[in-house]
Amino acid sequence: MRVLVTGGAGYIGSHTLLELLAQGHEVCVLDNYTNATPEVLTRVRTLSNRTILDYTGDVRDASMLDKVMQDFMPEAVIHFAGLKAVGESTEKPLYYYDVNVGGTLALLRAMGRAGCRRIIFSSSATVYGEPIYLPYDEAHPTAPTSVYGRSKLMAEGILSDWAAAQGDVSAVLLRYFNPVGAHASAQIGEDPKDVPNNLMPYIAQVAVGKREALTVFGDDYETPDGTGLRDYIHVVDLARAHVAALDYAANHAGARHFNIGTGQSYSVREMVRAFEKACNRSIPTQQAGRRAGDIAAMQADPRRAAAELGWSATHTLDDMTASTWAWQSANPHGYDT
Ligand code: NAD
Ligand code: UDP
Repeated sequence: MRVLVTGGAGYIGSHTLLELLAQGHEVCVLDNYTNATPEVLTRVRTLSNRTILDYTGDVRDASMLDKVMQDFMPEAVIHFAGLKAVGESTEKPLYYYDVNVGGTLALLRAMGRAGCRRIIFSSSATVYGEPIYLPYDEAHPTAPTSVYGRSKLMAEGILSDWAAAQGDVSAVLLRYFNPVGAHASAQIGEDPKDVPNNLMPYIAQVAVGKREALTVFGDDYETPDGTGLRDYIHVVDLARAHVAALDYAANHAGARHFNIGTGQSYSVREMVRAFEKACNRSIPTQQAGRRAGDIAAMQADPRRAAAELGWSATHTLDDMTASTWAWQSANPHGYDT
């Protein structure tokens, strides 16, 4: 299938490109490089030994989208392009709604003009908000607690309404849990531009000597060791979920949500211990209070994705930490190395 990948130079997008290419799909990337570098695509081309059409542009730009659609004529779109920093979303709400919601609207309009009928959307488990029960299934009420989460839920709503109105189109809404890890080549991985917000890249930067100590946010949660529990998923498993979603979209009309997680969760302290084992170094930590807006525990019920997409995660926690360490130690300065 010809697949347009918006945000394809980003962390999840780049891993997904490699899985799509490995399965024989043709890909084209649209990215404005606000949070990525063209070096990513150079590496993806080398690793896959395949050509990749790419455009530098904004997903909100209708004329750019029309050009890409006319040149490449995609049969499906995977829409990763967006902003994802929860804290920043509170400071810049209009910017977040513009890119995450406005970008989705512009893309759907361009798909309509070009006759493209399938879209896979990067949503997030953060749309669920404070858990009423765990693990979250897809029927769990949605009540996001951040601008970022609300922008994702709005985009989901737009995609569902679009699919309902068209009848013969497909929107697959993937609610990711916590993506971590890196490609087995150690050539592609997560490369945060600023101080990492997320746990795993922060630990990796401490391990490689870029940062002094991990700050553990909160030790008084109602969890076995008092630190937050999350459902971490290997980015290659996540990438493969998109390939499965494309097959699903080819055979199903309408909009459907899927949790993309493992169904297991680990605490901050368990993650630190697992990483120490992978890198054979100790990770200094300092204890702090809870981070504003954090919830105690998140865990996916991934059974719908298993039953309907035929997809489940296969990588272990050791795979997640070992691949992150392999990437970080081979590229201590990320793609700037
Ligand atoms: P990322 O920042 O690495 O990738 C996003 C890509 O989109 C980047 O390459 C960036 O340059 C590009 N981009 C941003 N704004 C754009 C615009 N206006 N036009 C064109 N390109 C633009 O992030 P990621 O971790 O790969 O996440 C991909 C998607 O998955 C995002 O939509 C994110 O919200 C969602 N998601 C991520 C996580 C996570 O923890 N990483 C969790 C849940 C959902
Ligand atoms: N966390 C932490 N220190 C950090 C970053 C994260 O203790 O520097 C904790 C955070 O409080 C949460 C877990 O690690 O319990 C996962 O956080 P992350 O930001 O990676 O994911 P999210 O909170 O968005 O699920």
